[in-house]
Amino acid sequence: MNPHDIASCLSVNEQGHLTIGGCDTVSLAATYGTPLYVMDEVTIRGALRDFRESMEVCYPNGGTVAFASKACSFKEMYRIVKDEQCYVDVVSGGELYTALSVGFPAEHILFHGNNKTDAEIRFALESGVGRLVADNPADLRRISRVAVQLGKTAAVFMRITPGIDAHTHDFVKTGQLDSKFGFTLENGEALEEVGQALSLDNIELKGLHCHIGSQIFDEKPFEHAAQVMLSFMDNIRSRYGVTLMELDVGGGFGIRYTKNDRPLAIGDYMKRASNALHAVCEQLSYPVPHIYIEPGRSVVASAGITLYTVGGVKHIPDVRTYVSVDGGMADNPRYALYQAEYTAVIANKADQPADTVVTIAGRCCESGDLLQEHTPLQQAEEEDILAVLATGAYNYSMASHYNRLPNPAVVMVGNGGSRVVVKGETYEDVIRNDI
Ligand SMILES: *Cc1c(COP(=O)(O)O)cnc(C)c1O
Repeated sequence: MNPHDIASCLSVNEQGHLTIGGCDTVSLAATYGTPLYVMDEVTIRGALRDFRESMEVCYPNGGTVAFASKACSFKEMYRIVKDEQCYVDVVSGGELYTALSVGFPAEHILFHGNNKTDAEIRFALESGVGRLVADNPADLRRISRVAVQLGKTAAVFMRITPGIDAHTHDFVKTGQLDSKFGFTLENGEALEEVGQALSLDNIELKGLHCHIGSQIFDEKPFEHAAQVMLSFMDNIRSRYGVTLMELDVGGGFGIRYTKNDRPLAIGDYMKRASNALHAVCEQLSYPVPHIYIEPGRSVVASAGITLYTVGGVKHIPDVRTYVSVDGGMADNPRYALYQAEYTAVIANKADQPADTVVTIAGRCCESGDLLQEHTPLQQAEEEDILAVLATGAYNYSMASHYNRLPNPAVVMVGNGGSRVVVKGETYEDVIRNDI
């Protein structure tokens, strides 16, 4: 398949090499070494702009795009998001620290997490983050207690589990009843806890949050979530006489990893979800709240690729062919974790047909260290450059040091040029904290 069909920043040049953002990937591999993460800045900015512009159209009275930074967290990402006038959500003190380190405005940061520590809540409140998202009864009380200690008021969203099956893979489903995240709606916990939030010291309940899952292609789960969440806000209004005016509907928009994935264009998606939301508000005579969305994957996934060098190619007759590369689960654990699908291309043979079927193996001492199984690929040979496409989300941010592998560099391309935005680690970096 043509790499351009996976991501618009990808193409094939006259030498038959894969390009990203106009840069030859074979040259990038030669310049910076492999494994290497490469990200196209134009794609990232374009996605943020698409989201922001559709929010302005869909919610003229107020809409906010918050990039879910766990998808891809390093300084330059926060600079880009800030420059594109979007907010971010963070889920840990480390992400918050990274955002603040480049001057990201604290009031444009939402702080999530199902088990925040006292220290993280203190850090968030002292920095002045815009919203803390309380995830459960213990978390809500903890936020109140820390806020009292600091003499500050916490502006809070409550994360609700709306009980929706978003038809995605179990591991990335977070809105159904059996979830570690959120206050449960079905059993009445959420409604009772809203009462607590309204009465606990130093808590200012601003609104509600839900995030129903990831890699969702259909607007139906969002329409359903809007229905459930607004009905709940209507119940809150009847029970407590409080009209909450902010609703965060989370992220989860799907992207194209393989030719079988068919995401809607961002604008169409947003329009459909917004029509449903406005209809529900009308039906309940509820004022349209300020809407927040939190796209993560859909901002960065298609912007990224990972380049590797092929080592051995091992044919096991009547079984399979392993193509081994110089990275693997340490830079991309997603196949090992939940068999995430990807498209792979031999970057120096991108104009040739993908007429073999192979398993791409990583270099870690773990049989499960695979990047893809039974995937079509051009004829692979030692020293080829192999590209895995659409790795911009949840790859660099999920990288580990297993087998003491240094984390690869991240290179940003844009307008034909390239620059390092995260340096590759050295062995010295790997032992930095060993005593
Ligand atoms: C992970 C997450 C997101 C982003 O999900 P994507 O599928 O990457 O868009 C948004 N909000 C919350 C609370 C999340 O946990």
